[in-house]
Amino acid sequence: MNITVRNKTETASQKITNFANNIAIELGIENIKITIVYCIILPNDSTKHKPNHTTIGSTEIVDGEYEILVDDEIDNRTQAITIAHEMVHVKQYANGDLKHADDESGWFWKGEFVSVDSVYIEREWELEAYRLQFKLAANALSQKS
Ligand SMILES: [Zn+2]
Repeated sequence: MNITVRNKTETASQKITNFANNIAIELGIENIKITIVYCIILPNDSTKHKPNHTTIGSTEIVDGEYEILVDDEIDNRTQAITIAHEMVHVKQYANGDLKHADDESGWFWKGEFVSVDSVYIEREWELEAYRLQFKLAANALSQKS
C-alpha cells in the first residue's frame, strides 16, 4: 500500500490508510505514494497556495512525493472529506492537469496560467475537488478492505 499516515495511533492509522486507499483506487492513483500528516494548521499560514481563511488541509509536493496535511483539530467527518478533497489534487498534480508556476506566482491548470490572486473557489481544480469530495469519502467509508 502506498498510503502512510503520520501522527495517529496504529489503529486509527490503519483505518485511515484503508479509507485513503479506497479513494486512491477510485481515482486511479493507487500507485502513487501519499503521506497523510495530521497536524495543527495555523489559520494565518501564509503559504501562497493555501486559502488562509478555511485551511483545513493542503497538498504539498516534497521531494517529488505527495504529502497531505490535515488539520488534527477538526471532526472526523470533515477530516475524511478533506482527505478526499486533497487526494483529488494529488491526482490533478500527478496527471499534469495542475502545476505550480516555477516563480510561485500561480498555477497552470491544463496549461493555462492562473494567478495566486485568483478567487480560490473559482479555480477549476477546486471546483473539481469540491464536486468529488463527498461522494469519494462516502464510497470509501462504505467499502471494507
Ligand atoms: Zn482544494
